Amino acid sequence: MTTLTHLECTQCGATYAPPAAPLSCPCGAPLLARYDLERARKNWNRAWLAHAPSTMWRYAPVLPLKFPEQAVSLGEGLTPLLPLARWGRNLGLADLWLKNEACNPTGSYEARTMSCAISKAKEDQSAAVSIAASGYPAEAMSAYAAAAGLPARVLLLDPVSEGLFLRCSAYGAVVHAVPLRSRDRTVGQPVQQSGCRDLGAFAEPYRLEGMKTLGYEVAEQFHWRLPDVIVCPLSHGMTLVGLWKAFEELDTLGWAGSERPRLIAVRAGARWSVSYASGETGGGQPMPHEPASWATGFPVEPSLGEALAWRTLTHSRGAAVTVPVVEIAETMYQLARIEGLLLGPEGAACLAALCRLLAEGLLVATQRILVINSGASTEDRLLKLRAREKVRPVSSRLGGLITPR
Ligand SMILES: [Zn+2]
Repeated sequence: MTTLTHLECTQCGATYAPPAAPLSCPCGAPLLARYDLERARKNWNRAWLAHAPSTMWRYAPVLPLKFPEQAVSLGEGLTPLLPLARWGRNLGLADLWLKNEACNPTGSYEARTMSCAISKAKEDQSAAVSIAASGYPAEAMSAYAAAAGLPARVLLLDPVSEGLFLRCSAYGAVVHAVPLRSRDRTVGQPVQQSGCRDLGAFAEPYRLEGMKTLGYEVAEQFHWRLPDVIVCPLSHGMTLVGLWKAFEELDTLGWAGSERPRLIAVRAGARWSVSYASGETGGGQPMPHEPASWATGFPVEPSLGEALAWRTLTHSRGAAVTVPVVEIAETMYQLARIEGLLLGPEGAACLAALCRLLAEGLLVATQRILVINSGASTEDRLLKLRAREKVRPVSSRLGGLITPR
């Protein structure tokens, strides 16, 4: 049974009680779901997890569904936590780990966010769901909407990936291609008027609750001792905010201590850059929005949660960094050879950042460092980019075969 009590505005502090609560605050800022954690603490403990479902719904008392047994679930969560011993040794890192979210349904951690958001949309009797997106969220929403029996509309932002278009369509979603900056015009008002729920990042509070389960799971898999540093994709700030919310709740529940990891947010860019967090900005700099999304599949639409993401980075003494696309491609390729893991571009970017983060002093070689791989490598564009630079013809005895060096 959920211990959800109310929704709270992240900017003006207004509170709203369900079931009449809006999905975002009239002031324009995102809402966060709040729970009666004292009640949860009394009625729920870590030992219960031994008998809990092997999905993210094992944390149901701190998720928003009134009837968690009716959750729209495809088996999301409990993804592998893997030691990257060889990769770590090469970098001189003693305790490097990878949380492989590619093992979720639809190949990314957006399965968590959509399982929660679509379950809640169904519970609230929404007529349909919609999203403007460029990658993993679009596919996950399409799949979970199908599982829920809800009509889904996907607005893929140009330039559209053919593979993504086909996969969303296969789940029965109605898919349109729209110009990059048209999100508010095409999704916002018409969607609300038709009773269709907009599941864009921070447009409603429940996707974040699904992302939060990643933080609970990291704590559980590390036996309730949080890592020193977490390097994760920026992804609209949802990963940062979700992880931090989990760690705060775990502290209140008494399940993990008050020590928090430093969070480093990573995305692709034209060159290496570091923005140190300060208040709701990176020292006056905007959150880095990279121009190279055509090559990477990184999210490109602006986020309603940007201030919240900066605030989270500030609290964690963290930073946002950009990694050059060619370094991401090289890391993706090398990691596949060294560890047998072909990561998505966002996860590869996080690993590609490690060396420079060490040089910047944002990491220490003896720390426990966790990298989040947000999803699978569904596009070959980065590998093609790497291959264009590296592929050489080998001996004609091999009949014209070409192979990466
Ligand atoms: Zn507000």
